[in-house]
Amino acid sequence: MRAAVYHGAHDVRIERRPVPQAGPGEVLLRVTRSGICGTDATEYRNGPGLFPVRRKHPVSGHQGPLVMGHEFIGEAAAGGAGAEDLVGRRLASGAGVSCGSCPWCRAGRTNLCASYWTLGLNADGGLAEYVAVPASTCLPIPDGCGDDSAGLAQPLGVGLHAARRSGARPGETVVLIGAGAIGSFILCGLAAHGVDRIIALDVDDARLATARALGASDAVNVAGDDPVEVVADLTGAEGTQVVIEASGVPGSAQRAMRMAARGGRVLLVGLAHAPQELDLAEATLREVDLLTTVAHVCGDDIPEALRLLTDGRIAQHLLDRVIGLDALVDEGLEPLAAGRAAGKILVDPRS
Ligand SMILES: [Zn+2]
Ligand SMILES: [Zn+2]
Repeated sequence: MRAAVYHGAHDVRIERRPVPQAGPGEVLLRVTRSGICGTDATEYRNGPGLFPVRRKHPVSGHQGPLVMGHEFIGEAAAGGAGAEDLVGRRLASGAGVSCGSCPWCRAGRTNLCASYWTLGLNADGGLAEYVAVPASTCLPIPDGCGDDSAGLAQPLGVGLHAARRSGARPGETVVLIGAGAIGSFILCGLAAHGVDRIIALDVDDARLATARALGASDAVNVAGDDPVEVVADLTGAEGTQVVIEASGVPGSAQRAMRMAARGGRVLLVGLAHAPQELDLAEATLREVDLLTTVAHVCGDDIPEALRLLTDGRIAQHLLDRVIGLDALVDEGLEPLAAGRAAGKILVDPRS
């Protein structure tokens, strides 16, 4: 089969690999769509950071060049012991593997599993014609949900989880800083949870137009303005109960804390590349809760994502294009790493 193999920064090769075997509890997916995201772009530009190319991953045991791809769907072509009945079904994989028995898994927080690992990040993934994946990470794709929509299930799952972590409820005002890739999936999650006062801030008018289409009540270009003042003008004395920082811009976490109302919450999304300065005394005096979020809870977030994607509306707004495996570097990773991608890019490994 053909697979996109990561060797190092700016070194991703389309190689021939043997088709993997489905072990016990695993399915062999014939991949139909596989997404790339900011994490892949960061590894492509500056890695290996997360990818276990030089250092062995403690749980997966993987070391060396890695088949990328942690956002994939496909059709089960074979099933190992215990997974035979899935053969022939269309499945979306959450890609994160949890043990099911540690205290975090038992509490339903499978993304915090003591032995969590992710296909495509910590072991070979789904940017290939086939991938062998634990059946426990796979959810059935509803009939009527097209491949281009279902291919967004993993990143939407991440957005739904973030929306849940923020605790945002209908009636609350939410500020979303950064309406890019992950920000727009969080916006979909907030809107799905009935939050209707969402102020999206960005510096790109096209992203803001998409944010409005996806449910933002206000979408403001803050280029050249102080975002804290913009939010204060919009929310008045009551302020904003929830601020979600999804821009990753240095200094934005501190601005998010200042935007939050007394007793409000700030959710930090994404991995900061460098330590950041926060004025904690100022936040303490107003009892601002600082929250974080990572990945998704497969069994909760992926089914909900698939339900939301079925009517095709989200993909219509967020999908930029579908490319073949040969175009992965030039039309996928390069524009994504350079910040030139207008929306989500999916790969059809067979085209
Ligand atoms: Zn991703
Ligand atoms: Zn566990």
